[in-house]
Amino acid sequence: MSNGRDLLALDRAHVWHPYGPMPGKNEPYLVESAEGVLLKLAGGREVVDGMSSWWAAIHGYRHPVLDTALAEQAGRMSHVMFGGLTHQPAIDLATNLVELAPDGLEHVFLADSGSVSVEVAIKMALQAQLALGRPRRRRLLTWRGGYHGDTFHPMTVCDPVGGMHSLWTGVLPVQVFADVPPVEFDQGYADGLRALIAEHADDVAAVIVEPVVQGAGGMRFHHPEYLRVLREATAAYGICLIFDEIATGFGRTGEFFGADHAGVSPDIMCMGKALTGGYLTLAATLCTTAVAEAISAGEGGGLAHGPTFMGNPLACAVANASLGLLRDTDWRSHVRVIESGLRGGLEPLRGVPGVDDVRVLGAIGVVQLDRPVDMAKATAAAVDAGVWLRPFRDLIYTMPPYVASPDDVARIVAGITAAVAAT
Ligand SMILES: *Cc1c(COP(=O)(O)O)cnc(C)c1O
Repeated sequence: MSNGRDLLALDRAHVWHPYGPMPGKNEPYLVESAEGVLLKLAGGREVVDGMSSWWAAIHGYRHPVLDTALAEQAGRMSHVMFGGLTHQPAIDLATNLVELAPDGLEHVFLADSGSVSVEVAIKMALQAQLALGRPRRRRLLTWRGGYHGDTFHPMTVCDPVGGMHSLWTGVLPVQVFADVPPVEFDQGYADGLRALIAEHADDVAAVIVEPVVQGAGGMRFHHPEYLRVLREATAAYGICLIFDEIATGFGRTGEFFGADHAGVSPDIMCMGKALTGGYLTLAATLCTTAVAEAISAGEGGGLAHGPTFMGNPLACAVANASLGLLRDTDWRSHVRVIESGLRGGLEPLRGVPGVDDVRVLGAIGVVQLDRPVDMAKATAAAVDAGVWLRPFRDLIYTMPPYVASPDDVARIVAGITAAVAAT
């Protein structure tokens, strides 16, 4: 291993990190390896990963089953183009995803990142409306507080004010926004949603939301009944309903998909993040036969999209292995144990000065402060307590790998508590 100091100097000179200036404001931590729930930092410190590498590493690091699937697939082929060719890893994955997804989602478009899968979902909805002879339906409707990715069209449906993209106001197409959905069911809010959809039935192609949990837009939870309201209202006007399950999918909220809390099937659904257990970048956009048939019968005769690395066999093979692990392990009770550990551990923070709210759902724990977090101080305090956290805005939060033991969860709680005290 090269000298850590030299590496960090080169990192500072050349490497751009997420959402930061160049060079970065705070020095990143150098990771040398990772195993189970632990990230092993240069200099010998080991920290429990409270972030699952941004929702992805649900089985932890260096899982033998996933490592083997990857190595075996590399022994056959790492990649081939997907135009005119196909292969078993992609076929198996599409078949698995259709089986796991809510009813009616029968067709799978494999994309190379979450943002691209949202681009594809939007393109599917717009192309379907066009093909059905409704070219004026070009806008999107969502609620505030959402996050759908960093490429340009997904940015338009991120929270317009509090999101990371407020600097693009005036540049991006303006979409239709409802207020942030309330935590509890509110009849007035539901009626307002219905009225907004009715009002925009002529110019909206699709409604897109994150079901049950809004992630990077603010880590908020809402009542699943709103998903049924959206399903009814969109169906009444032939508007597509898109669920972005990139953060909520694969058990994170306590159900396999966020949609399962409401028993609702969207017309189009995005999956990503935990799809490969955190090993490789891969996402998927699923749609119904009605959407697929509309697009395929329309002008152009197909979906105008085809990434170079579409259906990458390494990523598909690891995704299949990750789905196999979910099938063969009792992820539901692991998530429940994490949930009760987070609830018991974080609830006492409610009384701490500066803490505005504490909320837990499935394997997600959130502490919201009454002020912006001092990221460097909070992160350093957590690392000193043996935990990796990445707070943002006024939020210190965790979504541990499902393999985290009660002791690991207790350590994460201690890390969050230290981060709250330090900021
Ligand atoms: C992370 C995320 C995305 C974007 O996925 P990338 O792989 O980062 O492009 C989109 N939607 C939601 C809900 C996400 O959490």
